[in-house]
Amino acid sequence: MVRKPVVDMGHCVNCDACMELCPDVFVRNEAGYIEVIDLPVYPEECIEEAVNCCPADCISWEESA
Ligand code: SF4
Repeated sequence: MVRKPVVDMGHCVNCDACMELCPDVFVRNEAGYIEVIDLPVYPEECIEEAVNCCPADCISWEESA
C-alpha cells in the first residue's frame, strides 16, 4: 500500500503553506499549480502538518496498492 498526498486543484487558493512546510514534496509547476513530487516514500509528519494547515482543506491522502 502506497500513500501519496494529492491536492484538489479546484479548491487550492495558492497560499504556498504546503510548499513552505514540505518543500521536498509540494512544488509549483510551470503552469502555476501545486504539484506533488513523485517519491517512493512520503514524509508523513510534514505532510500531516500541511494537511492541517491548508486553509482550503484540499490536501488528502490517496492510497494505492
Ligand atoms: S496549502 Fe492548500 S491552499 Fe495552500 S497552496 Fe497548498 S494546497 Fe493550495
